[in-house]
Amino acid sequence: MIQIESLPPLTIPSGRTASVSLIDTTCTIDHIDVHYLVGPPVEGVSKLPCMPVYSFLVENLTGRKVLFDLGLRKDRQNLAPFVTASLAKASFEVNATKDVPEILAEHGYRVQDIEAIIWSHQHWDHTGDPSCFPDSVKLVVGPGFQKAYMPGAPARKDSPISESDYRGKEIVEINFDQQGGTRLSGFKAHDYFEDGSLYLLDAPGHAVGHIMALVRTTADPDTFVCLGADAVHDTGELRPSKYVPVPESIPFPSHTHMLGGMTACPGVWVEHLQAERGRTPDQSLFVTVHNHSIPDALDTISKLQRLDCDSNIFVVYSHDEALKGVLDEFPRTFNRWKQMGWDKQSRWLFLRHYVPELRAAKSQPGGNGIERA
Ligand SMILES: [Zn+2]
Repeated sequence: MIQIESLPPLTIPSGRTASVSLIDTTCTIDHIDVHYLVGPPVEGVSKLPCMPVYSFLVENLTGRKVLFDLGLRKDRQNLAPFVTASLAKASFEVNATKDVPEILAEHGYRVQDIEAIIWSHQHWDHTGDPSCFPDSVKLVVGPGFQKAYMPGAPARKDSPISESDYRGKEIVEINFDQQGGTRLSGFKAHDYFEDGSLYLLDAPGHAVGHIMALVRTTADPDTFVCLGADAVHDTGELRPSKYVPVPESIPFPSHTHMLGGMTACPGVWVEHLQAERGRTPDQSLFVTVHNHSIPDALDTISKLQRLDCDSNIFVVYSHDEALKGVLDEFPRTFNRWKQMGWDKQSRWLFLRHYVPELRAAKSQPGGNGIERA
């Protein structure tokens, strides 16, 4: 039996709540080689599951609305030349059929009602096309962003963003060290709405200025959703952990993902998978290998694991394919995640791609037919 580290309770100041919606941007990234992003390998698995790309709409109690990321712009030929050139050489497949403003409009939301676009970082699958938004919409970025990436193309040929992304818009670069800055569970934090409902978190490693967010989804008791952005690209980088070990039996919700009638996964399968790859059951399945700064990324992940073990915090990240079909998506909010048990239902679903017995079950008649190369 694994000993769980005893932890002091998280102290987060009281505050207001905000509503949060997950927007599936229609962008997918498929056929990514496992070794491109994570290691050590799992025998028989060469590709990561097809990744969705999420944007999040956050609205506080006074009606202020921000978008956290925008996915990929659908006219991707208009990305900065540096990005289009690298995508042309990529071995994975990328698709997007809609821009976020179109998805908002389908449900009666207007771009002029958005106060700000928060870019978690500069990558093409997060920046979208801010020029679809009026100049009144601010662009919020993390520390060091402007120095690292601006001006955009064409003024600077090697920039991953374009001048047209921000022309005419106010750019707000968060300074987490300024007066009034706070710390939450080891993260430098910025109270964006100044009402305790949305904290931006300094989460360096994946990219210069990479930021995450913490949204207060209910009060009394306080629950939160942590928007992890690209701190991880596969749940195996986050779980298991010394705080969240694999349980002896993992229930899979049969209504969302049938695994040939299988509704539980013995934890011992995961222990075997870890042991044969030189890992212990309380270590994450994978270690990140593709980041701007690996040491900083590992530090951010270890702090995120601390949040992940709190039953009042639901960690979601930009490419978490296990959320599909589990939680309510835009235009609905997923504030009631705890009441609905969406955290528990999605927590271990990623294992179906990696545990040999679960992969075998999928290829059986009655399995859900997902096969990994
Ligand atoms: Zn990404």
